[in-house]
Amino acid sequence: MLDNSAATEPAVIYRLYPYSDYSAVASAVTFEHGKIKIFIKNAYNKRGSPICLIPGALSFSPKNSGLYRFHSFSHNPDYYHYIKNPDIALRLNLCFDFFDQLFIHGESSAAFWKLILKFTDKNYRELSMYIIYRLLKDAGFWFYHPCACGKLEGGLTLHNGRIICERCNLTVSRGFAINQEAARCLPLFEKTEAYRTAKFTSAEEGEVLKLFGAHLDSVLEKEEAVKSLKVFSNMLTTLQQ
Ligand SMILES: [Zn+2]
Repeated sequence: MLDNSAATEPAVIYRLYPYSDYSAVASAVTFEHGKIKIFIKNAYNKRGSPICLIPGALSFSPKNSGLYRFHSFSHNPDYYHYIKNPDIALRLNLCFDFFDQLFIHGESSAAFWKLILKFTDKNYRELSMYIIYRLLKDAGFWFYHPCACGKLEGGLTLHNGRIICERCNLTVSRGFAINQEAARCLPLFEKTEAYRTAKFTSAEEGEVLKLFGAHLDSVLEKEEAVKSLKVFSNMLTTLQQ
């Protein structure tokens, strides 16, 4: 957008970074502008800072070189469960961490936007896993075929961003082992109908998320790119015990 007029858009503010005593820089995803950074002059005044993670209407205008100026934010009370239910809040955070790694500023993200509005107290596990799958897929990082040979059974390994089966893996000795739980879940992400009724256990969720994280690290050539993943995985493991 080239003109300097203010825009009001459906948006979620998902991170708030303190900038100076009163100001902050926020990361937000908006319906039309996609991922943006906004400068908030009085982020901590008596009316309170804008609530993170709850969808609402964000008014903002261009400031300089890709940074926007905050005008106002009114959150939608229909989404209070997004912060009231820690199961949703934690997974939303995780989704935004993956989003941050995979999207650049100004990149629009209609599919992501629509999906993050769908969290309920019942679907948070399946929805967050699907969102992360879609983020990877839309970024071009999904593995359509479990192995180049089409095989899914047996020991599977993630190596250099690809899934390799036992038979094809004879020459590769390193890689991230995919356990049976994750291997069983993977094909479901490609089947829209089956996914609609799919239910995952927290053990399956933990394994799939670990795999998504390892995959992202290997395609981005980073280490632990999604910082919140380790904390989240440890928490899941603790809850299972
Ligand atoms: Zn193979």
